[in-house]
Amino acid sequence: MEILDGKKLANAIHEEVAQSVLTLKHESGRVPGLAVILVGEDPASHVYVGMKRKACEKAKIYSIVHEMPEDISQEAILNTIEMMNNNPNIDGILVQVPLPAHIDQTTILEAIAPHKDVDGFHPFNMGRLVLGLDGFVPCTPLGVMRLLAAYGIDPKGKNAVIVGASNIVGKPMASLFLNAHATIDVCHIHTQNLKAHTLNADILVVGVGKRNLITADMVKEGAVVIDIGINKTPEGKIVGDVDFDAVAPKCSYITPVPGGVGPMTIAMLLENTLISAQKRA
Ligand code: NAD
Repeated sequence: MEILDGKKLANAIHEEVAQSVLTLKHESGRVPGLAVILVGEDPASHVYVGMKRKACEKAKIYSIVHEMPEDISQEAILNTIEMMNNNPNIDGILVQVPLPAHIDQTTILEAIAPHKDVDGFHPFNMGRLVLGLDGFVPCTPLGVMRLLAAYGIDPKGKNAVIVGASNIVGKPMASLFLNAHATIDVCHIHTQNLKAHTLNADILVVGVGKRNLITADMVKEGAVVIDIGINKTPEGKIVGDVDFDAVAPKCSYITPVPGGVGPMTIAMLLENTLISAQKRA
């Protein structure tokens, strides 16, 4: 069994991005810029945005966080997005989700100019992904593909089973695997007999948000297991969706939580922002 070390790979990508940022600045005078919109007081969202801001600082990417109160109007958020769409110093715009209940998430995400949509959540970019065309790809599933590639794991011809079918994780993950010529199986809350599906996985990707959802009896010997889930134990420890200690001995490769997919997500955000700036330069 080998650990898929997302932290190590993400650090290497941060350094590459920082180097490319310097080159871009030298050649065009431009510095990539990322605008983040953060609404409300959700503690996890504040932690994630803090991590993104720090990563930008390290990579010398300019970042600005627009913090807004929980009761902000939808119109005010839309106005800020419009300002960022028109700001030549901003290459990437992301709205941290979830948003408060009175805000329509689709309307907000659709307001972001697709060429600045570094999170890849805009229907334009999602559509291009499904069609296998160039565009921004959501950072978490993109990070998974990069991690697999770094360890020489080619999904072509493999059975890739994805547990969790959200718009930001499971659905784009399925498209990426299909585009990489894997056979895909997407499971969700209404899937009957989850184990029958997971046992068929050469590559098992889990992004649900339920601790110990995947136990050793649900995993085929030699499988590659990617754990996207983030859960907090009563003791305050961060764990994934996979019962790591029991599952790991059966795997050929497995991601740890933390230190697996999480850091890759942020690395892909930096890379997407850099690519956007390079295109504009
Ligand atoms: P979500 O709540 O939007 O979607 C959860 C999905 O899991 C749904 O498709 C649902 O049908 C499915 N599901 C729920 N219970 C299930 C069950 N018992 N069996 C099978 N499927 C089930 O969540 P999300 O935003 O996609 O996030 C999923 C997890 O991934 C969370 O733990 C989140 O914190 C984590 N996450 C991690 C990163 C990262 O960078 N590592 C990024 C995004 C999300």
